[in-house]
Amino acid sequence: MSDIQEIRKAQRDEEWRKAVRDSIKPKDRMAQERVVMPQADPEERSHSYMEVNMGLSLEQAMNEAKRCLDCPNPMCVTGCPVEINIPTFIKNIERGEILEAARVIKETSTLPAVCGRVCPQEKQCESKCIYNKSKKPAVAIGYLERFAADYERTSGKAAAPETAPKNGIKVAVIGSGPAGLTCAGELAKKGYDVTIFEALHEIGGVLKYGIPEFRLPNDIVDFEISNLSKMGVKFEADFIVGKTATMDDLRAEGFKAFFVGSGAGLPRFMGIPGENYTGIMSSNEYLTRVNLMHAADSKFDTPIVFGKNVAVVGGGNTAMDSVRTAKRLGAERVMLFYRRSEVEMPARLEEVHHAKEEGVEFHTLNNPIEYLADDKGRVRAVKVQRMELGEPDEKGRRRPVAIEGAIDEVPVDLVIVAIGVSPNPLISSAHPELKTTERGTLEATDALQTSMPDVFAGGDIVRGGATVILAMGDGRRAAASIDDYLQSK
Ligand code: FAD
Ligand code: SF4
Repeated sequence: MSDIQEIRKAQRDEEWRKAVRDSIKPKDRMAQERVVMPQADPEERSHSYMEVNMGLSLEQAMNEAKRCLDCPNPMCVTGCPVEINIPTFIKNIERGEILEAARVIKETSTLPAVCGRVCPQEKQCESKCIYNKSKKPAVAIGYLERFAADYERTSGKAAAPETAPKNGIKVAVIGSGPAGLTCAGELAKKGYDVTIFEALHEIGGVLKYGIPEFRLPNDIVDFEISNLSKMGVKFEADFIVGKTATMDDLRAEGFKAFFVGSGAGLPRFMGIPGENYTGIMSSNEYLTRVNLMHAADSKFDTPIVFGKNVAVVGGGNTAMDSVRTAKRLGAERVMLFYRRSEVEMPARLEEVHHAKEEGVEFHTLNNPIEYLADDKGRVRAVKVQRMELGEPDEKGRRRPVAIEGAIDEVPVDLVIVAIGVSPNPLISSAHPELKTTERGTLEATDALQTSMPDVFAGGDIVRGGATVILAMGDGRRAAASIDDYLQSK
């Protein structure tokens, strides 16, 4: 049994835990319906930035917590990339010790209120919950995580995780997305002197510039960041590593190790005719203008196209955030074009459901092939090729095949392309010793060490576009590797 498993077993054997477990029979726990997340009204929310999911009440959370069977071998934990001690936090909610539940989550997760909102739990912890074996809906682990984090934040009793005495060793973290924030938090816990260098003027990476406030309010991200400040982590915004200073410059200032968590912020385009017309932009540009540069707020002079007929191309979370943002910016018709069917869409199910409720038109099995412009070079229509599903590709997904002659012309005045991202080559080109893959991602070992021994990396810069929790898992793993590396010196 590993150390962590020993600790979990000891916690499970505690008196209070046995009493909670024995208070309700497993079959009665399983007979209870899964809680439904209260949501803002679709019509009202599609015209505002109010948060869509409104969170559970204390009563709802304690009731949902009763569904958890406190399994001796909790498979849900194996589905969590940061290995949150799920049954321990849930049983604390069941007995009403919510601050203790939040503390348990924070033992391994730096950003609980963020993960509780944006993690694809249905593909991670909840997909491994024992309830799936009985074909019953999994325990709502994500909702409960969010509940515990929000409760703690609003209680006024939030405590930053404990840190070891400072050891005076300086570590630089490049990028302030979930990978960088998590790595910084874990290193601070171990006593390191950590500085996060961020190219943008705001800290938070995609959590701030990509994911809109109706899914993840900025003050929640700021609160989680403030916990890192309390732990002694320093922040340098408007600092582009590779331009403002190189890693060599930072080494000369005494930094002994680096974590690169610079993400994958370089947008991809389809390369089809007319893609350079005015009114066609990447989802990254669109969402950054709205979320980070407040383009929708008349007090700011950031330019933005307020389309009436908006087309968004893609089927991931970024595409969902773009369609829903366009709705909130007043578009009359918002259309999503995706070349495969809805089953293959990589977006979270909840986001697809919410977008539909808000009136977004889903044109699946439709692929843009050309844009048409007016005499001023502004996009006026998109030509769309209808598709059908053919044989599976190498990943097992059925390949979309064009239906000959089935081409439609759809009037549009704004197109947002959300078909994926690549890493920005700035860091690797400023540091040619860093080895990259064909996709432009950084090469890293299982311990997340790059080809430069004092440089570690994780998150989207290593994986390509992935998820918040995988980036956090990497940040955590890299912090352990950096600690091993520095202690062995
Ligand atoms: P990022 O979050 O991209 O952060 C990297 C940071 O590094 C950025 O702030 C960047 O400015 C900075 N940087 C880059 N180069 C430098 C440099 N040279 N010097 C200093 N700083 C630098 N995932 C989910 O799990 N759930 C979701 O619902 C979800 N929705 C998404 C919606 C959108 C619109 C997008 C774009 C992504 C979404 N994702 C979602 C994916 C998820 O956000 C990313 O996988 C995750 O943020 C990657 O984290 P990261 O820390 O590696 O990089
Ligand atoms: Fe609870 Fe499900 Fe995890 Fe079992 S697998 S401990 S029921 S959340």
